[in-house]
Amino acid sequence: MKRKFKEIPKQIQRKRPAEERVNDFYPVYIEFSDEEAKNQAQRCITCPIDIMRGLNSEFEFCRTGCPLNNYIPQWIKAVKKGDIKKAFKLSNEMSPFPEILGRVCPHDNLCQGSCTIAKTEHGSVAIGAIEVYLNERAFEMGLKPYYGEDKKRKKRVAVIGSGPAGMSCATFLLREGINVEIFEKSDRPGGLLTYGIPNFKIDKNVIFRRFEWMKKAGLKLHLNKSIETKEDMKKILDEFDAVFIGVGAPSGRSARMKNEDAKGVYHVMDVLTRSQKIIFEDFDECDLEGKRVVVLGGGDSAMDAVRTAVRRGAKEVTCVYRRDEENMPGSKKEVINAKEEGVKFKFYTAPKEVKVNENNEVIGLVCQKTELGEPDESGRRRVKVVEGSDFEIDCDIIILALGFDNVKFEWYESAGIETDKWGCPLVKNYQTSNPKIFAGGDAIRGADLAVTAARDGREAAKKIKEFLGV
Ligand SMILES: Cc1cc2nc3c(=O)[nH]c(=O)nc-3n(C[C@H](O)[C@H](O)[C@H](O)COP(=O)(O)OP(=O)(O)OC[C@H]3O[C@@H](n4cnc5c(N)ncnc54)[C@H](O)[C@@H]3O)c2cc1C
Ligand code: SF4
Repeated sequence: MKRKFKEIPKQIQRKRPAEERVNDFYPVYIEFSDEEAKNQAQRCITCPIDIMRGLNSEFEFCRTGCPLNNYIPQWIKAVKKGDIKKAFKLSNEMSPFPEILGRVCPHDNLCQGSCTIAKTEHGSVAIGAIEVYLNERAFEMGLKPYYGEDKKRKKRVAVIGSGPAGMSCATFLLREGINVEIFEKSDRPGGLLTYGIPNFKIDKNVIFRRFEWMKKAGLKLHLNKSIETKEDMKKILDEFDAVFIGVGAPSGRSARMKNEDAKGVYHVMDVLTRSQKIIFEDFDECDLEGKRVVVLGGGDSAMDAVRTAVRRGAKEVTCVYRRDEENMPGSKKEVINAKEEGVKFKFYTAPKEVKVNENNEVIGLVCQKTELGEPDESGRRRVKVVEGSDFEIDCDIIILALGFDNVKFEWYESAGIETDKWGCPLVKNYQTSNPKIFAGGDAIRGADLAVTAARDGREAAKKIKEFLGV
C-alpha cells in the first residue's frame, strides 16, 4: 500500500487573517474545499481496526481517542472515494452532531492525538476538518440526519437541559421511536454550545439547525422553562416514563481575592453570554470598548474570553495565568489564535487583590509572581507564590475564567437522587439512585467537554430504552 501521508503534507483548515477576524464574530476557520478534503483524506492509512477490534489490544488509533468511538477510518475511506452519502451515514451513526463536534473538539488531544501517523514527523490526519466538510457537503446535497421519523412513537421521556448531553440523549431517543420533551431554562437551546463557546468558534445556526430537524421529527422543546422546585420535578416524574438530567456545571469559581465584588469584575459566562446575545439582539450590559481587560485563567474559557474582549473593542487584553504556557490546560491552537489576535500573556502570575477607586470601581489588579513546586497526587506541579513579589497591572475590567462547579438542586433530594460531595448525581450506568432518572454530561462529572457530554447522552439513551423495555 502506498503511504501517501509522506507525500501529502498535513493541512489544517485555512484561517481568516487575524487583522480581519478581530473585527467580527464570524468563524475563524474556513471549511475544506472538495479538493482539500479529498487530498487530506488520502493521508489516512486505514489502520487495520476491524482486525484489531475484539482483540485484547492496547493498540491506540483514532477511534480509541474519540470518546464517541466514531467510525473515523470508515468515513474517511468514503470521502476518499467521493461517496459523501456513505460517509454522512457512517459519521452520524455514533455521533449525534458530527458537524458540531468536528468544530469544537480539541482534536489534537482526542482522535488526532491517537491517530497512528500522529506519532511520525508528518502529523495526524486532519480528522476534525474532514468531519465538518463531509457533513456540510451532505447538507448542501439535501441529506438530513435521521431522527426516527418513520417510527410510531411510544413512551415519553423528559430531558432537563438542552446542552450537548441533553441534545444527544434526545437525538438517540428520537431515533428509537421514543417521544421526547426538552425543558430548558434559557431562551435558546444548546447549553454552552450556544451561550459559552463563542460564535467565532462555532456559528450558532449550526446548532439551531439540528434543533429544527429534531422538532420536525417530533421533539417538543420548552424554552424559558427551568426545573427549579420540588413541585416542578414532581410534575415531571408524574407525567413522564423516564427523565434525563443534563443541567451542566453552571457555577463559576471565585478567585477569593479582596474586592472581588468591585464594579468591573465579571464572571466569564456573563461576558460570553452577553457578547453572544449582542449578536442575536441589541443587548449589552458590560461594555468592553476602549477598556483595559485582564482575564484570569488559562483554559479554553479564558481563551474564549480574551478573544471576545478583543472583538468587543478592548484597548488592551492580558491573560494572567499561574503556570507557564506549556502547562495551560486548554487547546494549544486557541492560544496561538489569541496571540495572533494581539492578546498579551503574563505567566507565573497569580491574582492577589482587586484595586478599586472611591466608587468601588476596578482600577487595577495586584498580582504575585509564582513558581512551580513538587508534583501533587495527579502529577501536576503545585503552584507556589513568591513572597514579596507583588506588582500591579492597571486595568478597568477583570474577567474570572477559573473553572466551574456543580449546583445541587433542591429537587435532587426530593426525587431520591443521591449526590457526591460536589453535588453531582451519583450514577451507575447513567442511572441515578431513582431508577426512573438518568443523568450525564457536566452534571455528573464536572466541567469537561462537549464530546464527553454527547457520549453520556448517547449511552444514557440506550439505558433509558432498556429501562422502558421498548
Ligand atoms: C466558555 C466555554 C468554552 C468551552 N469550549 C469548549 C470547546 O471548545 N470544546 C469543548 O468540547 N468543550 C468546551 N467547553 C465545555 C463544554 O461546553 C461543556 O463541557 C458541555 O457544554 C457540557 O454539556 P452539558 O450538556 O453537560 O451542559 P451544558 O452545555 O452546560 O448545558 C446544560 C443546559 O442545562 C440548562 N439548565 C441548567 N439548569 C437547568 C434547570 N434547572 N432546568 C432546565 N434547564 C437547566 C442550561 O441552561 C443549559 O442549557 C467550553 C465551556 C465553556 C464554559
Ligand atoms: S467527535 Fe471529536 S474526537 Fe470524535 S472524531 Fe469527531 S472531532 Fe474527533
